[in-house]
Amino acid sequence: TQLINQIAAGEVVERPASVVKELVENCFDAGASQIYVDIEQGGVKQIKIRDNGCGIDKDDLALALSRHATSKIASLDDLEHVVSMGFRGEALPSISSVARLTLISRTAAAECAWQVSADGSEKNFDPQPDPHPPGTTVDVRDLFYNTPARRKFLKAEKTEFGHIESLIQKLALSRFDVGFSLQHNQREVLHLKPAATQAEQEKRIAAICGSAFVDNAVKIDYAASGLHLHGWVGLPTFSRSQQDMQFFYVNGRLIKDRLVAHAVKQAYQDVLYHGRHPVFVLYLTLDPALVDVNAHPTKLEVRFREGRMVHDFLFQALHRGLAEQRP
Ligand code: ADP
Ligand code: MG
Repeated sequence: TQLINQIAAGEVVERPASVVKELVENCFDAGASQIYVDIEQGGVKQIKIRDNGCGIDKDDLALALSRHATSKIASLDDLEHVVSMGFRGEALPSISSVARLTLISRTAAAECAWQVSADGSEKNFDPQPDPHPPGTTVDVRDLFYNTPARRKFLKAEKTEFGHIESLIQKLALSRFDVGFSLQHNQREVLHLKPAATQAEQEKRIAAICGSAFVDNAVKIDYAASGLHLHGWVGLPTFSRSQQDMQFFYVNGRLIKDRLVAHAVKQAYQDVLYHGRHPVFVLYLTLDPALVDVNAHPTKLEVRFREGRMVHDFLFQALHRGLAEQRP
């Protein structure tokens, strides 16, 4: 089991940012409206994530740290199947096989919170009372302490934290309704209140992409033939070089796609004569039947059923928006 967990962990846990991704997604699943992410030393020393979501019943805590599929993995074929499915439902057991994990949780109905922990092969699944408020904290320490080969592949603290920060930015732009706080080595790096109105959303975008972007951005809001695009695109008058400040969400999910990149670039070139490194935050919504999301949960790829149509729609939407605001 320990070995299977560690193999599984290789899929789910590549670096500190992959732990953060799994844990924050669990907070979303729990219906949290506030998520606190505390990082020490790039996440290698500690990743602590607290939410105000539904919490976990005392009786289910041990289960949350146990591998549900273990009993089903009888052969290498089974294992390969599980690997190719991306180990859904296996994040916490996988993480706890390569780090020291403490899970503390309290449901609204419970009188107090309860804590369990797992540390490599050592399990303390007998819940201990804890003064934690309603919601859940997952505390992950000493990542890869028992897999030195993996640990060696980690980059400098600054680089690993950079991955975490950019992940939180992406997640924060996908869920305006959730508040986020991000700390590194006890310093607050991001503090984002839940954002309902457009002004509040623009404040969040300013905190992430810079206020120069928001102040000069063109607002896009365009619908045609069942597709809807809305968001903000920067005019190239704003020249802070931020190649990774390109956020494109399809039905709420961040993607990187060549067809999308091409449509954006063409619209810029057509209106402004160049399309170098534009900054944008865009949300496309369309019938889910028109997109295939790659089965692997860590991939950012999609395939559009009607690629040409989506491309032309995006070009149209952006071209109009940009042309109206041509400086
Ligand atoms: P999955 O999310 O795919 O079910 P995980 O290993 O990520 O698998 O989590 C295991 C289980 O632990 C979840 O199904 C959920 O019941 C519980 N859980 C994990 N994190 C939280 C959280 N932040 N709030 C409430 N429940 C959680
Ligand atoms: Mg999960």
